[in-house]
Amino acid sequence: MAITKLVRIDKFHKNEAAIQEAGRLLADGGLVAFPTETVYGLGANGLDAEAAARIYAAKGRPSDNPLILHIAAMEELYPLVAEVPETARILAEAFWPGPMTLVLKKSGRVPGGTTGGLDTVAVRMPSHPVARQVIQAAGVPIAAPSANTSGRPSPTKAIHVLEDMDGKIDMVIDGGDVGIGLESTIIDVSEGTPVLLRPGYITEEMVEQLMGPMAVDPAVKGQIPPDIRPKAPGMKYRHYAPKAELTVFLGPPVAVCGAIEKALLEAKAQGKRAGVLCTEESEAFYQAPVKKCAGRRNEPESVARSLYDVLRAFDKEQVDCIFSESFEDLPLSGAIMNRLLKAAGYRTVVCGRI
Ligand code: AMP
Ligand code: MG
Repeated sequence: MAITKLVRIDKFHKNEAAIQEAGRLLADGGLVAFPTETVYGLGANGLDAEAAARIYAAKGRPSDNPLILHIAAMEELYPLVAEVPETARILAEAFWPGPMTLVLKKSGRVPGGTTGGLDTVAVRMPSHPVARQVIQAAGVPIAAPSANTSGRPSPTKAIHVLEDMDGKIDMVIDGGDVGIGLESTIIDVSEGTPVLLRPGYITEEMVEQLMGPMAVDPAVKGQIPPDIRPKAPGMKYRHYAPKAELTVFLGPPVAVCGAIEKALLEAKAQGKRAGVLCTEESEAFYQAPVKKCAGRRNEPESVARSLYDVLRAFDKEQVDCIFSESFEDLPLSGAIMNRLLKAAGYRTVVCGRI
């Protein structure tokens, strides 16, 4: 069992000694968790198959689920890939540094142990200053999946990382809460026309405004049959899941509130302790043993930012079931509903007319 060193860094003031230490640990094959603008990442040298193997071990991640390589500058992309198609260049120019990952044909330098044996590699250039400093200090591309135990909600605070990774990794850099709170948008550009593999803060509409219609992998919109292999292997795993049974109530907000009230009464009659995942606007409406607010509907970014924190918080409440409002009407609904429905194992109740 490793001793995990915790270092706090204010993202507006560089802590050169801590960054250099993180860089050395990574260059030597160690594991360092650090903040990015999406969620906290669990970093390792992406060109070192043994270091990548340590990520899989610490997370308990299936080995066919490939890792995203993080770079700090455009010139670091070229050695990792066989080619940079025009679509990739346009997308990178528009959204890097930022919360978008591109899947490209890989070069011989990237080990199969990082890409789950695929002949493509996923690459992202984050914008968070601490993430960028850590990558620069390491001097190598950094493989960094979300720093959670596989299957648990992704970490949006350093305390979430410690809950899952304390004693398993070398260092955690606490750079405060992340800004976005949901993982990056993944776009496959390895075959020319872009295909959306995972929705995120960079929305389909933003990409389409730039380059016309984009195909969407079926795994983005709903549950995929067990015999279908999605293009992003990670999309086939149950993910982000709280321990209690989570049900998402779909439909217009008023109908949803009414249906959740009814479900709460039924749960009480059955002796079940129920929780409600709601928003600050609707919290007062419910009579429930446990209520958790995922931000405010009138500020959709606050819903994205607090969703994983709220899912983790329910695990500490000993609830038997969780009833969640839906967020179909919000600008970030593509990414939010993708994660929420996966967390619920696609268990839904349709209320009123939608
Ligand atoms: P995480 O870093 O934990 O948010 O997960 C990374 C996601 O990127 C997973 O869903 C992977 O399946 C996906 N991914 C990584 N590399 C590739 C690749 N070469 N092709 C398709 N999807 C990928
Ligand atoms: Mg993840």
